[in-house]
Amino acid sequence: MTGIIDQYLKNNAKYASGEALHKATHPGRQKIQPARRLAVVACMDARIDVEDLLGLQTGDAHVIRNAGGVINEDAIRNLIISHHLLDTKEFVLIHHTRCGMLAFTDDLLKAGLEGDAAAEQLLGQATGRKFTSCGRSASTPAAFHSFRGGLHPLDADDAAARERLQWDVRRGMSAVLNHPWLPTSGPDAISVRGFVYDVDSGKLEEVSYPGATGPAV
Ligand SMILES: [Zn+2]
Repeated sequence: MTGIIDQYLKNNAKYASGEALHKATHPGRQKIQPARRLAVVACMDARIDVEDLLGLQTGDAHVIRNAGGVINEDAIRNLIISHHLLDTKEFVLIHHTRCGMLAFTDDLLKAGLEGDAAAEQLLGQATGRKFTSCGRSASTPAAFHSFRGGLHPLDADDAAARERLQWDVRRGMSAVLNHPWLPTSGPDAISVRGFVYDVDSGKLEEVSYPGATGPAV
């Protein structure tokens, strides 16, 4: 499968080697449809500039960001609108090394927010920031979508952490590829490729698919 994404991988190599491709000035009037028919889902991490690292120009792509770059209900909502109404056909999912979503579990964060003292202490140690409970339960968000597998210290990077990132990219790819409102065959088909972005080197590494998606704990 090749397409516009391969050009963006070449752009990424240039970005990682110090070449700036994204033009920051206003381009003038443009169409509402993304010019490159591309949608990117990426983590909100402050070290990531999606337009810069892919060499995207204003108007080229939809960029959807959340904690982890996870394919949750809202990301699916965005992608359905992006494809069916605004004509994108290639999706890129980007997770990244040292992601904060490796450093907690949903149960731990919920318990800490609700007031569990042990959870408060663990979260404080994990983040280097005093964790302050809110002392109340809540029904939303239903999930924080922390990544599967054994916990890593905040901002850690090793082979096991990278494997956990790959598991979640594959889970996201599967969620997209199997959604009934995101067609993967026929003339209106979308395609998806998944990557782990190395925040230290600036380089994207593609995640093979299908493959392992990890155990629950
Ligand atoms: Zn992240």
